[in-house]
Amino acid sequence: MSVLSKPYFHDEAAAFAHVEATLWADGRVCPHCGTVDNSYALKGVRSKPSKKNPEGVERHGLYKCSGCRKQFTVRIGTIFEESHLELHKWLQAIHLMCSSKKGVSAHQLHRILEVQYKTAWFLAHRIREAMRLPLEDQDIMGGPSTPVEMDETYVGGKESNKPRRLRQNRGAQGKAAVFSMVERGGQVRSMHLTTVTAKSLRPILLAHLDDRAVIMTDDAGIYRKLSNDFAHEVVNHSMEEYVRGRTHTNTIESYFSIVKRGIMGTFHHVSQQHLHRYMSEFDFRYNNRSALGIEDEIRAGRALAGVKGKRLTYHGPSASEA
Ligand SMILES: [Zn+2]
Repeated sequence: MSVLSKPYFHDEAAAFAHVEATLWADGRVCPHCGTVDNSYALKGVRSKPSKKNPEGVERHGLYKCSGCRKQFTVRIGTIFEESHLELHKWLQAIHLMCSSKKGVSAHQLHRILEVQYKTAWFLAHRIREAMRLPLEDQDIMGGPSTPVEMDETYVGGKESNKPRRLRQNRGAQGKAAVFSMVERGGQVRSMHLTTVTAKSLRPILLAHLDDRAVIMTDDAGIYRKLSNDFAHEVVNHSMEEYVRGRTHTNTIESYFSIVKRGIMGTFHHVSQQHLHRYMSEFDFRYNNRSALGIEDEIRAGRALAGVKGKRLTYHGPSASEA
């Protein structure tokens, strides 16, 4: 049997059962009043008749709370809430995004899932939200003498696609800056910064790193002052030195090459406004990589566990920003 033949990718009742097993592992929670395991299933309820479905459609996974008497499904309070897309298609999309190293474009999701492009675009951005590790779940990086490599990279479209005034600028201008830190053998954490300067980096490092970590950077000027706060080892890229003993930034550079191949090869263009979401996606896949023993299905399960509390409450991202 192939992974794709799993019932929850095709059958709506099975999809609900799968999502419930993940999100309600510790009991069925009423999203209205918070009581646990004090509800019962409502079977055979159908939606209101419509032109397309004169008999209505079966409402899967519907429960009624014995405490507050309100009805709910597992979609409430998750990224699934404000969409009418069937849950089994959501699960297909999550699986695709979790199992492709460089990501899946909205165009590809639109073709594979047979949904409108706009729907696919919304879907992908919501799944990126599910992949985002909330601030309160982010551990301090590094530890006693643990190397944490860091670097910055600039992400932007092709020169010819840019407005004239921004063309032919070398380096950073007109591009978006991504700053990333990776604990060697461990987790990566990325952020989209408007400017990467010694001044903007310092508070970030103080907030995210154990003060006993050993940071490793290239010899760019923005990193120089970090030696005041941390043990700091530098490779002199400007003098063509790339490795000196354990001192190097190869881990973060190979991470950036995955990001760049994804952004160039899959997404083609990423607007600055949404860059942080794409970075959540790349970080998530890296942090749940198969080198750590995390294979596709477990990775998809972890993304699914992240759908809770991630509902985009405002009316964005809108497709016109795509
Ligand atoms: Zn309730």
